[in-house]
Amino acid sequence: MGKNLTTRSEDYSKWYNELVVKADLAENSGVRGCMVIKPYGFAIWEKMQAQLDKMFKETGHENAYFPIFIPKSYLSKEASHVEGFAKECAVVTHYRLKNAEDGSGIVVDEDAKLEEELIVRPTSETIIWDTYRRWVQSYRDLPIMVNQWANVVRWEMRTRLFLRTTEFLWQEGHTAHATREEAMEEAEQMMHVYAEFAEDHMGVPVIKGTKTESERFAGAEETFCIEALMQDGKALQAGTSHFLGQNFAKAFDVKFATKEGGQEYVWATSWGVSTRLMGALIMTHSDDNGLVLPPKLAPIQVVIVPIYKGMEQLDAISERIGPLVKELRSQGVSVKYDKRDTHKPGFKFNEYELKGVPLRIAVGQRDLANGTYEIARRDTLEKETVGADTVVAKVSSLLEEIQDNIYKKALDFRTSHITPVDSYDEFKKVLEEKGGFISAHWDGTRETEDKIKEETKATIRCIPFPPIKEEGKCMVTGEPSGQRVLFAKAY
Ligand code: AMP
Repeated sequence: MGKNLTTRSEDYSKWYNELVVKADLAENSGVRGCMVIKPYGFAIWEKMQAQLDKMFKETGHENAYFPIFIPKSYLSKEASHVEGFAKECAVVTHYRLKNAEDGSGIVVDEDAKLEEELIVRPTSETIIWDTYRRWVQSYRDLPIMVNQWANVVRWEMRTRLFLRTTEFLWQEGHTAHATREEAMEEAEQMMHVYAEFAEDHMGVPVIKGTKTESERFAGAEETFCIEALMQDGKALQAGTSHFLGQNFAKAFDVKFATKEGGQEYVWATSWGVSTRLMGALIMTHSDDNGLVLPPKLAPIQVVIVPIYKGMEQLDAISERIGPLVKELRSQGVSVKYDKRDTHKPGFKFNEYELKGVPLRIAVGQRDLANGTYEIARRDTLEKETVGADTVVAKVSSLLEEIQDNIYKKALDFRTSHITPVDSYDEFKKVLEEKGGFISAHWDGTRETEDKIKEETKATIRCIPFPPIKEEGKCMVTGEPSGQRVLFAKAY
């Protein structure tokens, strides 16, 4: 299997699309904008899910499940929410098909029209808050700390595998609280949880911040986010956490009896990360040879490839590898011993490089005679020979080293791609020539933000949180500004 990958410098976007398919992560399906996630890609997503799920539970959340369909009337109850999502909704109108009378095939049975149309959930606030009305009567019923793992559908016009798809997998947390402060704290906390996951597990450095009003979630009063930077200098929104105020409680009439005996509307948050994280992972670390995976999320952490001629040699190698595999597994390392006789070692080396397996161990006749192993690391492509007595310790130290190294590399890149500018001309120049985040003063108005977006395609990715106060002047209007915000072109 030749890799024949387009290089990043040739065409970054093409490189990404090819890599996703060649590394066996996902492919396009017969449905426009919807992808098939293949077993290797799904195995990475499962590892992400498992870790996130653990972190959600450690912060007091439980999983539940709500319907995929939302009655159309629910969606319209919160005005800005429906306005934000109406343009990208898939609608179910009928519940039956029949054979066409003229024999031309199967058609929708007009007699089976739904009385009320159903929306395929683009997000679940409405159906969940309709449910919370039944769950909440008194302050004793609060807080509700629920998360759901699900698929959602947003009819996106321009799609790309993992980064933006019509159907995507995600988790959505929906919490209900007695006070504004508690809900705000929860929304902020989940941004920190996401940031910790991105940095410690994905090895992806992120900037924490809040969104400007125009970039906020439809129906939110504050949106916290984590923003990552891809190797082509474009930003990617990697996760969001919303403080929803009492908007949904008011729309769905969810009130509770307070301790003092009054009635108050419930305070809400929602927060989500999606299969877009797969895109962030791929785009942050991978190189022209293929995927580079952080050991903590790699489905296979170590692959062992025997180099042999004839079955006798293979058997001798296998005899030595058996106990090593056992020992590594007992240490919690996921190992694959690839003794397929249908493929040559060179082919296997290529394949595992393309698939980003962090460590490769090769064993040949000389190793057998000397009691050694050749270990190659995927991130630096360095090789070294180690003795049988140190191989297990070496594997675990290398896995840790790789995890740290790829994070550090991404962080160095990010750090060198945050450019402070003080004039709009400089802003345009940096955006054009270098990309990355640009840190600049902005007057806080939507007009200025829109003008910059229209003229340069750059958007305010976030207002860094906690804010770094600095007096300055808006680079466009010269109006006073109390802090810099981060601009970038984004996916
Ligand atoms: P939102 O509900 O709009 O705040 O989005 C929640 C999360 O889903 C964010 O992390 C988004 O980056 C991600 N997301 C939004 N739209 C898509 C999409 N079309 N494909 C994949 N992920 C998405």
